[in-house]
Amino acid sequence: MKKLQQLYEGKAKKVFATDDPKKYIVDYKDDATAFNGEKKGQIADKGIVNNIMSNIIFQMLGEKGIPTHFIEQLSERETLVKAVKILPLEVIVRNVAAGSFSKRYGVEEGTPLAKAALEFSYKKDELGDPLINNDHILALELATEEQLATVTKYAYAVNEALKEFFLEKGLKLIDFKIEFGVYDGEVILADEISPDTCRLWDVKTNEKMDKDRFRRDLGNVEETYQEVLSRMKK
Ligand code: UDP
Repeated sequence: MKKLQQLYEGKAKKVFATDDPKKYIVDYKDDATAFNGEKKGQIADKGIVNNIMSNIIFQMLGEKGIPTHFIEQLSERETLVKAVKILPLEVIVRNVAAGSFSKRYGVEEGTPLAKAALEFSYKKDELGDPLINNDHILALELATEEQLATVTKYAYAVNEALKEFFLEKGLKLIDFKIEFGVYDGEVILADEISPDTCRLWDVKTNEKMDKDRFRRDLGNVEETYQEVLSRMKK
């Protein structure tokens, strides 16, 4: 597989074309941003952690019947994936109140939610990724009704699989963000699942084991990413 020209550079990853138009190579960076790009930094070896961790998780989800873009890990930071067209939606599932949910609704962080709560943001940096509802998604033709139904079904299924998987590693899944893409007309899971995109709290100590350590300057950022990766491998 030949790595050809760079197609896109995001905040945490670069995407490259390959000699197969149906395959891309993603290359994970150590760059970290928060608050819609206002806070910028680097987390040493984050790219390696997020690449390996995402791949472990995508393989686990694949075995549970959730289709993903994962094909093959090529190196510490590079993975061969299916060339999807990303739906412009951030799909968030919450089990426990935290972050923007706590702020918006005045609920103390750490309060368990009576039901897993699905929410969508419109992926548009200029607008700060505003919250969006199902009707708005259809009105703006960001996804078809069928795609939205599939996204919804997979999002809850991913939540169930991830909750169980992380609990085995001593981690509580507070919330997470996933993205989907279209490949051969089908909706599949794409992007990444990592401490950048999940809130994970240690089961015993409730310590934050995710990007909130960077967002909130809690310290031990690198060490925490390494600890999460080492738990993934057990
Ligand atoms: N999240 C993400 N990318 C974003 C926004 C949120 O990966 O651009 C993840 C975040 O890490 C958390 C979940 O989605 O696990 C919910 O985030 P929230 O809406 O609370 O936003 P935040 O507090 O990060 O602004």
